[in-house]
Amino acid sequence: MVNSYATHSTQRTRAGQAALFLQCFEHSAFGMAIIDREARILGANCELRRLFGQEDTSFSRSLLESIATKDRPVAVLAVANALETRPVSTPCEIRLISSEGVERWVLLSFTRMVSPDGDDDLLVAQCAEIDAYRRRELELSEREARWNDALESAGQGVWDHDFSRNRLFYSRQWRAMRGIGPDEEIDGSLDNWINTVHPEDRERVVAEIRKQERAETAFNVFSYRERHRDGRWIWIECRGAVVEYDEKGVPSRIAGTDTDITERKEAEEFLAHVSRRLELALEISRIGVFEANLTTGLLTWDDRLLQMYGKQGDVASALDWHRSLHPADRQRAIAVVEDAVAKWEAYSNEFRIVRGDGEVRYIRSRGAPFVDPNGVPKLIGANWDVTDDVRLQEELQRAKTLAEARNEELELARVRIEYTALHDHLTGLPNRRFLDARIDECAKRAATSGARIAILHIDLDRFKEINDTLGHQAGDRMLMHAAEVLKEHAGPGDFVARVGGDEFIFLSSDTAGRNLATLADGIVAAMRQPVIFDGHVCRFGASIGIASGIGPAIDARQLLINADLALYRAKNKGRSRHEFFTAEIQTQIIVNKQTADEILSGIEQNRFLPFYQPQFCAKTLDIVGVETLARWDHPLRGILSPDSFLKIAEDINVVATIDRIVLEASLADFSRWSHAGIGIPRLSVNVSSRRLHDPDLGLTLRGLAIQPSTVSFELLESIFLDDCDRVVVENLAEIRRQGIDIEIDDFGTGHASIVSLLKLKPRRLKIDRQLIRPISRSAEQRRLVATIIEIGRSLGIEVIGEGIETTAHAQILRDLGCDILQGYGLARPMPASAVEPFVAAQEWRRNMASAHELQEDLRRSMRR
Ligand code: C2E
Ligand code: CA
Ligand code: CA
Repeated sequence: MVNSYATHSTQRTRAGQAALFLQCFEHSAFGMAIIDREARILGANCELRRLFGQEDTSFSRSLLESIATKDRPVAVLAVANALETRPVSTPCEIRLISSEGVERWVLLSFTRMVSPDGDDDLLVAQCAEIDAYRRRELELSEREARWNDALESAGQGVWDHDFSRNRLFYSRQWRAMRGIGPDEEIDGSLDNWINTVHPEDRERVVAEIRKQERAETAFNVFSYRERHRDGRWIWIECRGAVVEYDEKGVPSRIAGTDTDITERKEAEEFLAHVSRRLELALEISRIGVFEANLTTGLLTWDDRLLQMYGKQGDVASALDWHRSLHPADRQRAIAVVEDAVAKWEAYSNEFRIVRGDGEVRYIRSRGAPFVDPNGVPKLIGANWDVTDDVRLQEELQRAKTLAEARNEELELARVRIEYTALHDHLTGLPNRRFLDARIDECAKRAATSGARIAILHIDLDRFKEINDTLGHQAGDRMLMHAAEVLKEHAGPGDFVARVGGDEFIFLSSDTAGRNLATLADGIVAAMRQPVIFDGHVCRFGASIGIASGIGPAIDARQLLINADLALYRAKNKGRSRHEFFTAEIQTQIIVNKQTADEILSGIEQNRFLPFYQPQFCAKTLDIVGVETLARWDHPLRGILSPDSFLKIAEDINVVATIDRIVLEASLADFSRWSHAGIGIPRLSVNVSSRRLHDPDLGLTLRGLAIQPSTVSFELLESIFLDDCDRVVVENLAEIRRQGIDIEIDDFGTGHASIVSLLKLKPRRLKIDRQLIRPISRSAEQRRLVATIIEIGRSLGIEVIGEGIETTAHAQILRDLGCDILQGYGLARPMPASAVEPFVAAQEWRRNMASAHELQEDLRRSMRR
């Protein structure tokens, strides 16, 4: 019961107390209420009632019921705090819900009321409405969060350094771009973080951060490289701004975004790299670039292009380009560009320009139209200078043309040379070389076809005379005439060549049904026709040797030789005729061959020996000398005279040997006769032309120790007709030095002129026996011989009469003043052994005397 009273009384007291308190604070700006331990509201002032949304003052509920469920635990905790630990609780922000359901933020705190009786179970709840402030704050942070989300979703990392609250925030994206986990703890200190920055960027980054911290800039942007967790470098673009300052104006909070710009940086790097390369390429290749705006007509050229055109940045429109073009190329070059733009396609162009300095250059150009990102139609292109190429090309072309012309010339020259090599320059006929090739060709063809080939070897008669008497021009004229004659006789299958001075070959490769004799006679007859040259009537003729063969049996070389042999025969038979090569000629050749062999063995066996024919003084008939005449002591045919061996010996080139043998032997005989004193004062020896041409003649003669004026050399008149060559001249001089007399043999048959007589100055000349023979019957012949003797006398040359066969010959010559006589009428050639007895007998005197008497008797009886 006591308890019950007490309780009642206490309650009454507390109610009074609360009423009193509330009465005091009824109009406080803060909301106030008295609550008990269970937070039952005992009373509330005006402000709190407003917050509760109730008019009347009676409460029947707990304060907690008016607090938003979410905030209730905080309120409960605060109440308990105030009751048990501290008389005043820390304020907490909670939401009050009014009776109309309106929620308001309030700052709520509790204070324990200490009653006079020590009862302390009442609490004063105080609350200040902070709803408006709180809501604004919430809105702000929401907005910040939304902004962050937006940045995050845009791929930007958000960071927030709130130094005043010592709070460092790094967003998910900020972490993700660095490979940092969302929940990972981050040491945001500069010292630590800077280590992840690329060494090259560190200094710069630190400087930027310092700038921010010192509030030098409210906002800054910089990029740098930072190491990703996986080890690679990433490029970050950092944008930061000061968002709060402290009371001293020092930035207390800096926030910003980081963007991973690695890809962009790489793209930039790539672009820079590509641009650098392009620039380098353009620089090296000296390619100039232009760009034209097709809407505005604006034209821009790079430096290289300006340089190429020799301009100084004064290019603004296409007209500037037009003006630079070479007048001859202008229209075409512009048309190419306009056409390409009209068709909207790429083009290439080539033209000349006249540079600012007047120089003409060749330019090649390429261009293409395009639409730029802003939708503007443009034309971009490049020009490069190809002058050097073009010049080189022109140079090459010129060189090529020149080379071609030269080749043509060479080809012509080659043809000319070939023609010359194969033709005779005088007559234009094919020459020996051409003939050889043609004969081989014909022989080859005949071998398969079985055809007949004939060769006519033609030699002009008396050509030498015409040449010598009328000169070379006349000779040339005759040769040309002869060539014409032969060409006229040539048919389609015939071939005419000149093969020597006055020798021609007429090759007939298809002679079926052709009479070669008629052909040859026709040629001979035509050649015999006189030719007028320089007013002279020239007569010459032709001798022809013919050889032919059939099919595979043909030996082209042999055919030529046979025709030559036949020709030789034709000439021997009196010229101006033809001869066929025959079996008889063949036989003659065999015989000659045998004779040649016998001559050679005759030389070896010493079967050549001298015979001697004495020579007499015309007046006294004393022996004045002997002529040495070669004989061949043939083992079967006995003693043979020169006409049976000299020609063949000449052919096998042993005449000089025979001469030497005969000379040596006769010198031995002569010296024997001298010792015996039989009265032969001189020895004359025949010397062949070959011997006179022998360079060793002088040496041989010196070895023979010839007594001066005891030996004469008889040289054929024809020798002096040859152009005296050096060896002959030297040999003649040597002969004279040795004291050997020179005599001209067979004088009057050849063509020794008075001039050559004067030049040679022979000691004697021998009148040919052909001139002597007719003197007893022909007065004309006598006059001729008399003239020769007269010439000899006037030049101081002794004259020998040869071929004295009769007393009449001897008398006439003596009367004409001839010095020496030689002939069968006085003495025949005799062997050495017969000489001594002949001289001793002196029989020739008697023979001559009796003949003389006989003649006198005859003359006397006739007179009678
Ligand atoms: P040749 O020098 O005119 O010699 C004179 C030739 O006339 C000799 O002929 C001689 O026998 C001949 N004979 C002499 N008197 C008379 C005569 O009254 N009537 C006729 N019908 N003939 C006479 P052989 O000995 O037969 O010599 C012929 C030619 O051979 C010589 O002509 C000479 O040119 C040459 N010969 C002779 N011996 C030699 C020699 O040793 N060396 C050279 N290279 N030639 C020689
Ligand atoms: Ca002689
Ligand atoms: Ca003679």
